[in-house]
Amino acid sequence: MNSQALQFCAELAQKTRIHCLKMVNKGKSGHIGSMLSMADMLPVIYTQILNVDPKDPKKADRDRFILSKGHGGAALLSVLAELGFFPLDWLDQYYCDNGKLSGHISHHIPGVEFSTGSLGHGLPVACGMAMAAKQAGKKHRIFCLSSDGDLNEGSSWEAIMLAGQHHYDNLIMLVDYNRLQALGKSKDIIDLESLSEKLKLFGWAVREADGHDQMAVYESLRDLPLVNGKPTAVIYHTVKGKGVSFMENEYKWHYGGLTDELLAEALKEVEAAK
Ligand SMILES: [Mg+2]
Repeated sequence: MNSQALQFCAELAQKTRIHCLKMVNKGKSGHIGSMLSMADMLPVIYTQILNVDPKDPKKADRDRFILSKGHGGAALLSVLAELGFFPLDWLDQYYCDNGKLSGHISHHIPGVEFSTGSLGHGLPVACGMAMAAKQAGKKHRIFCLSSDGDLNEGSSWEAIMLAGQHHYDNLIMLVDYNRLQALGKSKDIIDLESLSEKLKLFGWAVREADGHDQMAVYESLRDLPLVNGKPTAVIYHTVKGKGVSFMENEYKWHYGGLTDELLAEALKEVEAAK
């Protein structure tokens, strides 16, 4: 990724954070901590890694991206809107009565592959897509962005076992591993450690990276699959609420509204960041 592309991704991450904060304020609710956690990785994935076309969101050979942590979907919607999948002013209708954009992500929106929000659904569907692509001899790849809470679900582990056993090396699971979830620290609820070792034992190739270092995100995905014949998992170490100091690493910001005063405080910080 050259310096121009890196600059574009940094600016897109900043715009994403600003959109999300405003959407949660206007919609009076949302999973803001979860959105900010993935705001740096999504611009890199969408502009540098995925084969997708905003002008042709359903083209047959596109890579598929499923956001399994669909409750934080406003971050993905912001990136899709900025890249031209749908008009930017749709973001003003997030979480509003009769608005175009729901709180949890919907496949009715151009560029969104699958409706998610209830955890544990994304990876099984991605696994099925990977199986179908293999059987049809197709070359596109299937990406699924998962999370701590998402990996608490048994259905996620069924998919992990299936993909490892059947060698779906066209499947890439990305983990937004901020170690917090709705009600507290992941280690106190269902501890995923050692996540890397568990995935390796289930037949996956695993890499870890800083999910807020955009060059590191790019480097982690430029040579897929990591191992021929194995599904790939990339564990991104992230900070829930990243970019707004009073939200960072605070699980109480998993879900909720944002007053006008706190919005102004958060925007001041995000807009000043380089
Ligand atoms: Mg989490």
